[in-house]
Amino acid sequence: EASSSDDFQVLLSWADKHRRLKVRANAETPVDAAKARELGAEGIGLCRTEHMFFESDRIDQMRGMILAENREERQHYLDILLQFQESDMLDLFRVMDGLPVTVRLLDPPLHEFLPHTEEDMVALSSRIGKPVAKIRAMTESLKEVNPMLGFRGCRLSVVYPEVTEMQVKAIIGAAVKATEEGLKPYPEIMIPLVINVREIRLVSKIIDRVIQEVVQEKQISVPYKIGTMMETPRAALGADRLAPEVEFMSFGTNDLTQMTYGFSRDDVSKFLPQYLEKKMVESDPFVSLDLRAVGRLMELAVTESRARKPGIKYGICGEHGGDPRSIQFFHDLGLDYVSCSPFRVPVARIAAAQAKVRRELDL
Ligand code: PEP
Ligand code: MG
Repeated sequence: EASSSDDFQVLLSWADKHRRLKVRANAETPVDAAKARELGAEGIGLCRTEHMFFESDRIDQMRGMILAENREERQHYLDILLQFQESDMLDLFRVMDGLPVTVRLLDPPLHEFLPHTEEDMVALSSRIGKPVAKIRAMTESLKEVNPMLGFRGCRLSVVYPEVTEMQVKAIIGAAVKATEEGLKPYPEIMIPLVINVREIRLVSKIIDRVIQEVVQEKQISVPYKIGTMMETPRAALGADRLAPEVEFMSFGTNDLTQMTYGFSRDDVSKFLPQYLEKKMVESDPFVSLDLRAVGRLMELAVTESRARKPGIKYGICGEHGGDPRSIQFFHDLGLDYVSCSPFRVPVARIAAAQAKVRRELDL
């Protein structure tokens, strides 16, 4: 007797035959990446590198780096972080052999890495050899009133280019090692929270230079792409100027929704339920894409950037990437792929096929 799971596999194989949109997954651990692949992901559309540094053995080094008082001290920690980043990336390239892996440069507000409690600070003090009072003062000084609108994304690359250098060295170093193992890594380096072309130029210059250095040193080249997140209204409104500088654009609809509405992503539970109840908004815009606003920004960005640079690739890696209703819109817009949590990949595959069939049948 055929199980429902067999039926589901048949349905998925039909979906794959019919869909145009590719489906990738958001993942940063080998376990999640393997799960994603098993569920049919055709690559990683978003590897949030900041998540890779929260592990207990890495966080102290990260904290040491952030609290460093001069370049030498910072470099000491960056050299250690480089080893972690490179081996983590190699693990990911092994799992994703032959498929693209979009690696996003560090994005969190810096103080998220810092100790939160007095106990944490005392423990950190002995580990990095700094007085507790100093750690407390520096942690205080890094705190922001609106961290989601603050010192994050490529703003870190502008202020601390050496952090970006470390990440690129690690990503490409890992890709070189994977290639030496006979694998085919396809790293795509993605710049977060971009607002303008100057940021892209500055960060791309660092990326290109570091890659040249690695390639020179190892005498082996690897294919790579540079792209940008599209997650601020300013980036969307100026997409035509960004396009010539990148090979792909990936819409970060979580931040784009937050900034379009002025709704804090991290605080919606406080007011959104009442807002929905009183019908002040039709539905939760963080779940289903708001076509009238965020969708229009995306449409403008795609239309104007494509006119400037035909052939540029588009993806979406916000939560909406796994939402069937939003997937219809992404199909219609002509995006190349959606990227979502591994467990949503099968539904996204089906939704992508439905989106295409619906249009073909003129429904
Ligand atoms: C986004 O903003 O949609 C996104 C994918 O990035 P993050 O959720 O990590 O901010
Ligand atoms: Mg974001």
